Amino acid sequence: MHGMHPRAKRKQKEKRVAKEHIKELFHQADEVFAARPDLAHRYVHLARVTQMKYKVRMPREYKRKYCQHCYHYIRSGVNGRVRIRDGMLTVFCDYCRKFSRTPFK
Ligand SMILES: [Zn+2]
Repeated sequence: MHGMHPRAKRKQKEKRVAKEHIKELFHQADEVFAARPDLAHRYVHLARVTQMKYKVRMPREYKRKYCQHCYHYIRSGVNGRVRIRDGMLTVFCDYCRKFSRTPFK
């Protein structure tokens, strides 16, 4: 961090905090989904907003947890289907009835 501009340093800290926040939101979504799916969807939306605001990358492990089109929380076999095959993650959403595909290792 030597020689780094204070503003850049603060930005970096903001991004770290944002990532922590996203992690926590998905954790909460996992926890509440069975009882309060509406809240789980809300947490995914908040995670998306945080991700865009701080321009951080969405961690790969969370991409399987929501629909890339309507941002509903997805649990495979409950409100959608999640498959990983040949290095591709496919999420099918029961809400908007769309597929999304992203490379996934
Ligand atoms: Zn959807």
